[in-house]
Amino acid sequence: MNFDLVKLRYSINFRDCVGQCEKTGCVGERCFLHCKFSSDSSSLDGPWYMQEPLYLQWKQWDCQSDCRYHCMLDREKERAELGHGPFKYHGKWPFRRLYGFQEPVSVGLSALNLAMHFHGWLSFFILLYYKLPLKPDKRPCYDYTGLWHIYGFLSMNSWFWSAVFHSRDVDLTEKLDYSSAVALLGYSLLLAIVRSFSVRNEAARVMVAAPLVAFTTTHILYLNNYKMDYGWNMKVCVVMGVTQLLVWAMWAGVTRHPSRWKLWSVVVGGGLAMLLEIYDFPPYEGLVDAHALWHATTIPLTYVWWSFIKDDVEYRTSSLLKKVK
Ligand SMILES: [Zn+2]
Repeated sequence: MNFDLVKLRYSINFRDCVGQCEKTGCVGERCFLHCKFSSDSSSLDGPWYMQEPLYLQWKQWDCQSDCRYHCMLDREKERAELGHGPFKYHGKWPFRRLYGFQEPVSVGLSALNLAMHFHGWLSFFILLYYKLPLKPDKRPCYDYTGLWHIYGFLSMNSWFWSAVFHSRDVDLTEKLDYSSAVALLGYSLLLAIVRSFSVRNEAARVMVAAPLVAFTTTHILYLNNYKMDYGWNMKVCVVMGVTQLLVWAMWAGVTRHPSRWKLWSVVVGGGLAMLLEIYDFPPYEGLVDAHALWHATTIPLTYVWWSFIKDDVEYRTSSLLKKVK
C-alpha cells in the first residue's frame, strides 16, 4: 500500500513535469531548443522547410522525448537520494542515452533480429522456388508457403518498429511497436495451430483464423484508441505466447517429424527467454536490462526456427512427391 502511494506520487510528479516542460520547454535550469514553437518569432522567419508541418511534427517529437528523458533523470535522482530503487516510465526502465539513442543495446539487437529474419526468409524463398521442384502451375508443393511469407513479413515489420521505438520513445513509435508485436504474436499463434494440426482445408483455416484475427485486432485498437495499458497488454502477450509454445510442444511430442529436435530447442529456449520478459530487472549501468537480454536470446532462436521451417518444407515436399510416385 505504502509502496503504491510512493509510486503514484512519482508518476503524478513525472506527468506534471512532462506537461510543464512541453509548455515551457524547460526542466529546471535546462531548456530544449526543440520545444520552442511558433510563439518565438525567429522560427517563423526561418527558411520554408522549417515551417513545414512534417518538420514541426518532428520538432514536437524531439521536444516530447527530451522532456520525458530529463524529467525521468530528475525523478530518478530524487528517488536515489531517498534510497528508492528505479521505477518504470511508459513501460520502460530509466536508461542512459548514448549518441542520441535511448536504449542503444536494444536498438542494435533489434536490428540483428531483423537481419536474422531477413536471412531466414530469403533462404526459405530460395529453397522453395529455386531448389525444390514446383507444381505444373509454377507454385511450390509446400502447403504452408503463404502462411510463412506473412510470418516473415510480420516479424521483420515488428523488429523494425522495435528498433525505432528503442531509439526514441514518443507516443507514435510506442504505438507502432506495441501494435506490430501484438500482430506478430496473434498471427504466430494462428500459424502454430494451423501447422501443428495440419489444417490444410481452406474453410477450416478460416474457422481458426477468424476468432484470433478478431481478438488481435480488437486488442490493437484498444491499445491505440482507448488505453495503453501495459499490465493488461503484458497478460495478453504472455497468454498468446505461452499458448503457442504449448501447441508447438504438444506437436513436437507426438510428431515423427525428422527435425522435431529443432522444434524442441525453440520451445524450451523460447520458454526460458520469456521468463526474462516476466521477471524483468532494471538496467545494469543504465544500458542492459532484462528486455535487452531477451532481444539477444531471440537471435539464435530465430536462426534455429527458420532452419526448422526449411526442414519442414523439404520434409513435406518429399513426402508429397513420394505419394505422387
Ligand atoms: Zn523491445
